[in-house]
Amino acid sequence: LKGLNGHEGKMSFNAPLRDIRFTLNDVVGLKSLDRTGAFDDLSDEIIDAVLGEAARVATEVVAPLNVIGDQQGSQLVDGVVKTPDGFAAAYQTLSEGGWMGVPFDPAYGGQGLPKALGLAVQEMWTDACLAFSLCPLLSRGAIEAIGAHGTEEQKKLYLEKLISGQWTGTMNLTEPQAGSDVGALTTKAAPAGDGTYKITGTKIFISWGDHDLTENIVHLVLARLPDAPAGTRGISLFIVPKFLTDDDGSIGALNDLKCASLEHKLGIHASPTCVMSFGDNDRAIGYLLGEENRGMACMFTMMNDARLGVGLEGLGIAERAYQQALAYSQERRQGKPPGKQHDDVASMAIIEHADVRRMLYTMKSHIEGMRGVCYATAMALDEGVTLKNENERLAAKARADLLTPIAKGWCTDLGMEVASIALQVHGGMGYIEETGAAQHFRDSRIPPIYEGTNGIQAIDLVTRKLPLGNGKVVQALMDEIVGVADQAKTDGSVDLAEIGAALSDAAEVLGDVAKDLQSQLKSNSSDALSGATAFLRLFGNVTAGFYLAKGALAAQARLSDGDPDEAFLTARIGLARFFARDVLPMTLGLAAAAKGQGDLLFALSPEQLGP
Ligand SMILES: Cc1cc2nc3c(=O)[nH]c(=O)nc-3n(C[C@H](O)[C@H](O)[C@H](O)COP(=O)(O)OP(=O)(O)OC[C@H]3O[C@@H](n4cnc5c(N)ncnc54)[C@H](O)[C@@H]3O)c2cc1C
Repeated sequence: LKGLNGHEGKMSFNAPLRDIRFTLNDVVGLKSLDRTGAFDDLSDEIIDAVLGEAARVATEVVAPLNVIGDQQGSQLVDGVVKTPDGFAAAYQTLSEGGWMGVPFDPAYGGQGLPKALGLAVQEMWTDACLAFSLCPLLSRGAIEAIGAHGTEEQKKLYLEKLISGQWTGTMNLTEPQAGSDVGALTTKAAPAGDGTYKITGTKIFISWGDHDLTENIVHLVLARLPDAPAGTRGISLFIVPKFLTDDDGSIGALNDLKCASLEHKLGIHASPTCVMSFGDNDRAIGYLLGEENRGMACMFTMMNDARLGVGLEGLGIAERAYQQALAYSQERRQGKPPGKQHDDVASMAIIEHADVRRMLYTMKSHIEGMRGVCYATAMALDEGVTLKNENERLAAKARADLLTPIAKGWCTDLGMEVASIALQVHGGMGYIEETGAAQHFRDSRIPPIYEGTNGIQAIDLVTRKLPLGNGKVVQALMDEIVGVADQAKTDGSVDLAEIGAALSDAAEVLGDVAKDLQSQLKSNSSDALSGATAFLRLFGNVTAGFYLAKGALAAQARLSDGDPDEAFLTARIGLARFFARDVLPMTLGLAAAAKGQGDLLFALSPEQLGP
């Protein structure tokens, strides 16, 4: 059991520090970034200090917000959003501790550490309280977008405040008629004649659109200029602060925008989901970010960061739900060992039942796979800007592009499934609100929906990512997967040989389907799209199996070197073996669906699908 989660006994939440360190160091190789020369001090001491302190803050400061946040929710009081008890103080702790700035430019007050390390820190807030963590997640996206597309003046004014956490950022895309179809948005931006723009329109579902955590909120708003081309080519992006400011950031008048109402929703009650009204009095001042009609390109900087962050939410909610299920499975006593159903035999903890073990292994192995996928994406983002060789830099960037829909789609689908299994472990008590398992299940439902639904992620994977570099980007990953599978097969240990064999079989299936879809895309893209979701699942399973196998190889190497942490390391191998035996063989079934079934899906009419 110690090996399964790294800590014993009853607890509601402990940041999974040992698992995080292992994935960062042994699976994705954070220290290999030393070769870029881009990070002044990436010593083991710094990495350990950052992770250790983040784990303490997540466990002691952020985790206690989770239940109260769900129960109280954010409320709209006299036109202003009030967050639940403790949220403002916890946010203050993060801001004062410099936690928002971990991966950002020191020129604007950041700590200049790798994104992969920043993501590990972000994971801890997300594990601890998903609803709370969404606020810094959106600020991160705003920092990325302003950093990449802002003028020097905009960077000077906004980056320091966002990186310090003094202000937060939001992302305003959605309108009632413009959800997945962002190009249908109608919010208007009219040049005011002084270089600014007047914004008018209503946005819905805006996370953290208003709150009482900070003195100002920086809204990034997509809108259309007069006479802009239709669709996504006519969209521009604007910075619209809640309070107007002087050039030095001192707070001035309230801008003409407000949170008109809050949505009542299934989960993440503490995260205010706002209907935002801009320009009711025709005075909502916005500042163009990037170029006119190029807003989607700017917003994609933010969205790519947010997609990885939302993928991390799948991991975070799974981790939290799992920890609770593991603890419960050791407390709850039901049933007797098979073949020993006598009255004088005491009932046993449910963790001793094979089916409960299956659930725990399923959860834990997927969590390790998700962590590998998310951290590897962040590593590729780091390498994509810091590697010295241009070809390698471009290859790393393309790897990040490929992995992003998998991180978002696969991890959030699995986050929801893990939260459901965690509830199942609780039996009826899981369905009762008091245990908290139900909250995790409710909270887990949103990440597959927002930030581009998982259906849209699957389409992105098939239509944009699969053809990258004429298939070479996928092939490069496949080659690495096959290399690791071969290494495991020939390592000499029976356990690793089993992992290697299953991984190479699964990789072969994935490679075949990928080729099939690429040719289908050229002839009949509707067929390719009908298989996209199954393909994303297949791709995610194999990629997760790859990172689990890498972890198992690293664990084996450590054991051979005499590392004393035997329980933890053998668990890495056991979990990878379980995944190889229980999950990877599903690739064959998924392959049939992934190859497309457009003919079948459109054969029945809506009437035929009715009762
Ligand atoms: C709690 C919450 C917080 C949110 N936070 C924000 C935020 O901060 N900022 C923001 O701008 N938005 C936010 N959103 C909005 C969110 O991003 C959208 O809900 C999401 O993009 C889906 O859009 P939609 O709801 O209109 O669904 P629709 O687009 O109507 O989709 C309905 C279904 O149709 C499918 N579908 C749609 N188009 C296609 C297609 N082309 N091909 C295949 N299938 C398709 C979808 O996958 C989905 O299953 C939030 C939403 C919620 C619920």
